[in-house]
Amino acid sequence: MYLKRLEISGFKSFATPLKIDLDPGVTAIVGPNGSGKSNVSDGVRWVLGEQSAKQLRGSKMEDIIFAGSESRKKVNLAEVTLVLDNEDGHMSSEYVEISMTRRLFRTGESEYYLNGTACRRKDLLDLLIDSGLGKEAYSMIGQGEVEKILSSKPEERRVMFEDAAGVLKYKSRKQQSEKKLTETKDNLQRVEDILSELE
Ligand code: ATP
Repeated sequence: MYLKRLEISGFKSFATPLKIDLDPGVTAIVGPNGSGKSNVSDGVRWVLGEQSAKQLRGSKMEDIIFAGSESRKKVNLAEVTLVLDNEDGHMSSEYVEISMTRRLFRTGESEYYLNGTACRRKDLLDLLIDSGLGKEAYSMIGQGEVEKILSSKPEERRVMFEDAAGVLKYKSRKQQSEKKLTETKDNLQRVEDILSELE
């Protein structure tokens, strides 16, 4: 599995729709200061589920929508699509190519699409976390994060390794199951109380 294509429109400095085709292996994006290199990685991070405007170098989420320039009017919709090659079946989907789209309107509404079909944010995130991707899974390493990893305490580093090894999804499923179990025990207790009152 690899990131095959990136489609960006109305996101940060990219007013004009932009398509970036990527090959397997290493890709470097080069350009002058302020030309939008980091905005490209912000776009990837955004589709992977980033909800913090600060992490995307803005103060509010609306800041990711192209705000206009001397020559162009602002736009009202930001859209980024990641196209992943799934020939190796790494992602739990029957599709050999998976596209994930996130949209944000200036009115504040969000939309998510999986292979062109509208879906919930949760559907995208579940597919990502099952494949070891996602914003918490170290599939994106930002500036300063390497230093943070090197200077972290052994317990914190262990959590990072567990996350990177894909233990995260099992941890979150375990938490969900434990919560359900507690709720079921509470319900059982209530039924027993009612039964003993009836006897
Ligand atoms: P450097 O090499 O200095 O790190 P860079 O190539 O990574 O730069 P970015 O930080 O990606 O550049 O892009 C910064 C540019 O994006 C700035 O000119 C900024 O004005 C522009 N920009 C960011 N958000 C928006 C927005 N919402 N609307 C229009 N332009 C934006």
